[in-house]
Amino acid sequence: MKPQEHVAAFGTAAGELRVGGMALSRLAERVGSTPFFAYDRGLLDARIDRLRTALPTSVQLSYAMKANPMPAVVQHLAHRVDRIDVASALELHAALDTVIAADRVSFAGPGKTPAELRQAVAAGIIVEVESPTELARVVSAGDDLGLTPNVAIRVNPDFAVKGSGMRMGGGPQQFGIDAEQVPAVLREFAAAGVNWLGFHVFAGSQNLNAEIIAEAQRRTVDLVADLAEHLPAPVRYVNLGGGFGIPYVEKDQPLDLDVVAGHLHELVGGALAQRLPGATPVIELGRYIVGECGVYVARVLDRKVSRGKTYLVVDGGMHHQLAASGNFGQVIRRNYPLVVGNHVEKPGAETATVVGCLCTPLDLLGDDVELPAAEIGDLIVIFQAGAYGLTASPTAFLGHPAPIEVLV
Ligand SMILES: *Cc1c(COP(=O)(O)O)cnc(C)c1O
Repeated sequence: MKPQEHVAAFGTAAGELRVGGMALSRLAERVGSTPFFAYDRGLLDARIDRLRTALPTSVQLSYAMKANPMPAVVQHLAHRVDRIDVASALELHAALDTVIAADRVSFAGPGKTPAELRQAVAAGIIVEVESPTELARVVSAGDDLGLTPNVAIRVNPDFAVKGSGMRMGGGPQQFGIDAEQVPAVLREFAAAGVNWLGFHVFAGSQNLNAEIIAEAQRRTVDLVADLAEHLPAPVRYVNLGGGFGIPYVEKDQPLDLDVVAGHLHELVGGALAQRLPGATPVIELGRYIVGECGVYVARVLDRKVSRGKTYLVVDGGMHHQLAASGNFGQVIRRNYPLVVGNHVEKPGAETATVVGCLCTPLDLLGDDVELPAAEIGDLIVIFQAGAYGLTASPTAFLGHPAPIEVLV
């Protein structure tokens, strides 16, 4: 997708990018300082509506809050999704502070501490256990607390999903219990006092290929149906994972949600209904919900020409938006979409390189980008910044102040 397509998604006002219904320079005045992250609630709502319209109504939507744990965002989404997925005790607290009922909060991730597992059991959330050790700790926490833990088994599937930016299932993994080990583990724990809910399979993240996602979902249902006979109770919860990707760089084509949804309608009405009646299917999404709704905005501090190359030096950088810089030296670095946000309708007039304020050549936000001639004080906008931005960046690196985040 091209930068201008991202501009169109937000809209414009008086020649500027519009974020949260405001022209960007007005928003920057209201925020009071740069750099900042802004998340557009209208776009968040539109994304949820789009998902709800496309997906079967029986499919529940879970928000994987590690993608963007800003409290206002989590609260906003809590009114619009069915569930929240957390990955730490801190996220668990944030999820419990929302309207989502505890038994609709799920906790995944390897290396949950015994203290975290105890908190999770005490809170009555769903623990997605990733190993027999974790399962034993959950059982003992339940015994200690006099509570029956809600448990789903996270399964490392016996298939891999191609085309994921990050593969998290298939082959050897730190995630989940290998599918072939699950029957023995369930036999071992058959008499444990837990509330067996079902299974969770998350095969990978950042996938833009609808057919591959659909294939993974089909295979997940087959796998879970095969494992179901080993669960001491009927399967009531099937977390099909997610992995819906967003287009980060220009060559990326957006995921065709209608194709994913079409296959999912067939799956839910077919194999799932036949083989797992009584199971609630869940799709768990992070970046697909929030990623495209957010921008990172930094101000041009300096403009300089070095041996023929024009540099725009901004007051932000990789310490806030690591992914746009190439994650500490990606093999092939590609530019994230960026524009001069207060001049989005001006044509490109020059090729400039946008760098951050850190004292390292890695702090590169846009290399040789065609931009309108930008001046000191202009606002550079990086799109696709709503997920894995601030909390996934090395904010302490070089000791600059943290940016503000606003939901507008
Ligand atoms: C990180 C994660 C997600 C969210 O991934 P996205 O690519 O942001 O959608 C969902 N489920 C689990 C188990 C995760 O670890």
